[in-house]
Amino acid sequence: MSDPVKRVLLAKPRGYCAGVDRAVETVKEALALYGAPIYVRKEIVHNRHVVQTLQDQGAIFVEENDEVPEGATVIFSAHGVAPVVYEEARQRNLRAIDATCPLVTKVHNEAKRFASEGYDIVLIGHEGHEEVIGTMGEAPASIQLVDGPAGVDAVEVRDPARVVWLSQTTLSVDETMATVAKLRTKLPLLVSPPSDDICYATQNRQLAVKELAPECDVVLVVGSTNSSNSVRLVEVAVDAGARAGYLVDYAHEIREEWLEGATTVGLTSGASVPDELVMDVLAFLAERGYADVTEFETAEEHLTFSLPQELKRDMRAAGR
Ligand code: SF4
Repeated sequence: MSDPVKRVLLAKPRGYCAGVDRAVETVKEALALYGAPIYVRKEIVHNRHVVQTLQDQGAIFVEENDEVPEGATVIFSAHGVAPVVYEEARQRNLRAIDATCPLVTKVHNEAKRFASEGYDIVLIGHEGHEEVIGTMGEAPASIQLVDGPAGVDAVEVRDPARVVWLSQTTLSVDETMATVAKLRTKLPLLVSPPSDDICYATQNRQLAVKELAPECDVVLVVGSTNSSNSVRLVEVAVDAGARAGYLVDYAHEIREEWLEGATTVGLTSGASVPDELVMDVLAFLAERGYADVTEFETAEEHLTFSLPQELKRDMRAAGR
């Protein structure tokens, strides 16, 4: 009997989302317009390769505004910042460019609106994640964080009839719904956000992996360990039936033993991952006999976001 054909199921959509594309372009355009160095508060997106590439081009990544020289240009990352961060930048006379993804800004606006209407807000998200810190900073007195179903018991509200849940944009859809279901048993009048907070890109990448995983022995996810949506893709793959799932930044991190006995390998990437890194993994797999590649498409994506207004204004003034 001949050996089974080794194959790759390549998820689509995968990789860059509209918010990441905009944030990376913002840094590149700012470097071209103002010249290096350009300061970036926090990683512009959670991907090692992207950060390294922009560093090589003249971006300096800092943790806080006080590391940026007075009067210099600073870009805020795609994950968003609390209002206090804008104020710090103003006080230091920094030229601030806000690369917050518009879909994160949407959650900030929801938080501000519900807080102003007297609601308690239960934010479902991961403690310490930059996006969560930024969103909570919009209304710290009204927001409490719940990091999964286990955190629901500790939730306390002023008025059970005025409570809304919001979420981080990059969570597991299924786990978030499990948290909401548990919240509802405790707070039957819980209000849902006006539209999905988990963004289209997160949902689409999870759906693609969910559909291909049952056919896969192994699912490889290209992404960094601090990338929430990438880490979720590994979990979704295993939950959906893949024998194993692994997260790698680069092809050379794939261990030969992961592929032992594997006929079908699933492949995808997080929303902050350039596709060249996925192509490197395909080349790595092809060298090991996985030459049959089928793209597994579950959704089309056409969304794009324009660059931040403050950058566009300066580009226009410079005739660019
Ligand atoms: S993952 Fe979603 S929320 Fe985050 S930058 Fe991309 S589109 Fe925006």
